Amino acid sequence: MIPVNEPVLTDKDFEFLKDAFTSGWISSAGKYIEEFEQNWAEYCGMRYGISVSNGTAAIQLALDAAGIGKGDEVIMPSFTIISCGQAVTNLGAIPVLVDSDVNTWCMDVTSIESRVTKKTKAIMVVHMYGHPVDMDVVMGIAKKHNILVIEDAAEVHGAKYLSNRGTSSEQWLVCGGIGDISTFSFFANKLITTGEGGMVLTSDSGINDRAMMLRNLCFNNERRFRHYELGYNYRLTNMQAAIGVSQIQRIEEIVERKIEIGRYYQEQLSQIEGIQLQKQESWAKGVFWINGLVLDDSLNCTAEKFCDELRKLGVDTRPFFLGMHEQPVFASKGLFIGEKYPVSERIARQGFYLPSGLSLTIDQVDEVINSFKLVMEKI
Ligand SMILES: *Cc1c(COP(=O)(O)O)cnc(C)c1O
Repeated sequence: MIPVNEPVLTDKDFEFLKDAFTSGWISSAGKYIEEFEQNWAEYCGMRYGISVSNGTAAIQLALDAAGIGKGDEVIMPSFTIISCGQAVTNLGAIPVLVDSDVNTWCMDVTSIESRVTKKTKAIMVVHMYGHPVDMDVVMGIAKKHNILVIEDAAEVHGAKYLSNRGTSSEQWLVCGGIGDISTFSFFANKLITTGEGGMVLTSDSGINDRAMMLRNLCFNNERRFRHYELGYNYRLTNMQAAIGVSQIQRIEEIVERKIEIGRYYQEQLSQIEGIQLQKQESWAKGVFWINGLVLDDSLNCTAEKFCDELRKLGVDTRPFFLGMHEQPVFASKGLFIGEKYPVSERIARQGFYLPSGLSLTIDQVDEVINSFKLVMEKI
């Protein structure tokens, strides 16, 4: 079976891990924690990094540190991972959804402003499957209405966005360095991995202070074990951070390889009728976190059925996300009842992704493409 997303861990990663291990600093104190935070923040163009135990924790911490609370509204895409929706509802806040852009599958930025109300506190964008959201539009709306922008950048390590297009201040910005706060995951299938892990980035010292406190159970310096607020234990270990420090030293190499695989897939798959690939906009330098596609309705075949056939030929796949408005758990809370987001619904039903890991060889990609063509003939 060609795996869908296998990590690549090097001897150097192991040297770093071993150093943390033998130093005895195996919990959340130790030199690699700050080094990892500083290096990643600097790479993305933010002032502060707060490492956490996973990407879901990063989103929760970001929203809490930003002061999102009961009754506040957060505008976000329907088409994303549950982590985004639950981070909002866990705080007693209300997720307000928008549909996906039909080409990039990122949130449709043209439908954001009509969802702004007096209660809107933040817009949470999710850069989708390696491709950036059109951030200038989002930042413009946020500035006009004085609301925060949180970027979920878990799928776009190293992706770049062309800001101020066509003006003298045109500039490529790193995703996760554009909004007020950003969040990353370093799960094993992400471009940079620490096994499990995550990070919140911000340039706001107040948000940084709050995030640091909330991450560590809201201990305070005045009297340890006296608490004025409730927080979380979201600490990352020094051992994980050591792997992270090693990994980000070769971020350019990792991004380059992902783009190579992604471009090859796009070249080969674009010759096949009946499927839609993720459009790579001219203002984006995407990193092809995964290589996804959406089957045309005219094929009369769902992603699920297609993937069963691919699996029989030794090709592993994953389905696309299922929109927040189609989640039974939110319906049971009375959320999004009767709401419709047609693009999100269609790509959730018809979309899936092919093997996309860093360990993939071009020969394996050819094998995937051949199997794909066989299934196309069969259905
Ligand atoms: C992977 C991912 C997360 C969650 O990260 P975990 O580390 O698995 O908790 C959040 N958001 C997006 C968009 C992701 O792809």
